[in-house]
Amino acid sequence: MIKMEDIIRDGHPTLREVAKEVPLPPSREDKKTLSDLLQYVMNSQNPEIAQKFGLRAGIGIAAPQINISKRMFAVHLEDGKGDLHSYALFNPKIISHSVEKSYLTSGEGCLSVDRNIPGYVHRHSRVTVTGFDLEGSPVKLRLRGLASIAVQHEIDHLNGIMFYDHINLQDPYYEPAGAIPLER
Ligand SMILES: [Zn+2]
Repeated sequence: MIKMEDIIRDGHPTLREVAKEVPLPPSREDKKTLSDLLQYVMNSQNPEIAQKFGLRAGIGIAAPQINISKRMFAVHLEDGKGDLHSYALFNPKIISHSVEKSYLTSGEGCLSVDRNIPGYVHRHSRVTVTGFDLEGSPVKLRLRGLASIAVQHEIDHLNGIMFYDHINLQDPYYEPAGAIPLER
């Protein structure tokens, strides 16, 4: 089971690497890592388990955050419409995206970043993502809203990008024309 001490923090070089593709079909070890990632996110949202093990709540986590530089991530969240989005993917790829941008009005956070970093992170409103599930079967997802933002945040981790890289330092609350604010 993944705990807070397994999560590397901002400044660790692995967070800045471009992670490697996972060979498919996935090995037993890679499957275990991916299911552990999903389990962490689910556990962190369960108040009893989170308290017992001191887990910080998150909606997603990527393998580089546990110092495994491989292309896999998990997200588990309920969106603004009450729909559950629970995905664990190998080798995810954004194959298309909207021109329209959105951002969380509360900004973004990250299990690898212990401080609060104010500012808007502009992302594509909608993305289409392909990848492979835990069994190695192909998956195609069309996402919008919080799920779209969370998946873009996690795919960034696979490319060595942190959420705050996207914040405009001169004007952290800059709003591009037509960008859609999202409440969480
Ligand atoms: Zn993160």
